[in-house]
Amino acid sequence: RTVYVNGEFVPEADAKVSVFDRGFLFADGVYEVTSVLGGKILDFAGHAARLERSLAELDMPMPMGADELLDIHRKLVADNGLDDGLIYLQITRGAADRDFAYPDAQTPQTVVLFTQEKPGLADAPMAKQGMKIISIPDERWGRRDIKTVQLLYPSMGKMMAKAAGAHDAWMVEDGHVTEGTSNNAYIVKDGTIITRHLGNEILHGITRAAVLRFAREAQMRVEERSFTLEEAAAADEAFITSASTFVMPVVELDGAPIGDGTPGPVAARLREIYLDESRKAAV
Ligand code: PMP
Repeated sequence: RTVYVNGEFVPEADAKVSVFDRGFLFADGVYEVTSVLGGKILDFAGHAARLERSLAELDMPMPMGADELLDIHRKLVADNGLDDGLIYLQITRGAADRDFAYPDAQTPQTVVLFTQEKPGLADAPMAKQGMKIISIPDERWGRRDIKTVQLLYPSMGKMMAKAAGAHDAWMVEDGHVTEGTSNNAYIVKDGTIITRHLGNEILHGITRAAVLRFAREAQMRVEERSFTLEEAAAADEAFITSASTFVMPVVELDGAPIGDGTPGPVAARLREIYLDESRKAAV
């Protein structure tokens, strides 16, 4: 596999980052994951805009313009013959002697991109089966709107889900669902799609923004507000969204079926619209 590191495209075995990198020592970095279908990149503009915002919130500049970033994405797709898969991008504050305070602003940032092949990404069997979810307390920090590489608690959440025989976990704070470990969370009640409003408590999902736009264009009712676990348990259906899963139905919460325990029609329709429209707009 060819990966990109600080201006160079190299075989993965030759890709090296310093042990003093602040991404490694302090999780002082941000990332994006963008999906590729049929060799084309989905929602690139949205991911580039969120990247710039995440960096700005941490007083870091964009190391290059969005056009140059897109060129790197495309070259990695071409060099690796990527058809269906993901592109991971990470930018850190760079390598400097270990100190909590940020280093000199001249310190070169570390920029890494690599691809992950996911054959049949859009035909995941889970879309037909539906996911089993457990609820766990949300024990992350307070700036979840910044897409940092500080992902230990979400990793712990995935392991808690696995141990419980489930696929993922929804995190709960003050009695309300914030989001999934790596996705945004939705319920559907009496035809209305309900998902948490934007704020510092959740990541502003690029897929979320697109799916809500498509839902409104299709005259579906949308409410952006927090919901409780009790509401979720009594919902007609539930689903999640993320760049790598698109729209994925949820059929079980904490061991109890949601609705009739099978993937719901709203999630199925939104998945279809999202995949159709994103493929059309892919670059
Ligand atoms: N919330 C969290 C915590 C996430 O990690 C992700 C995926 N990175 C999402 C939501 C979904 O965001 P997106 O649709 O941009 O992938």
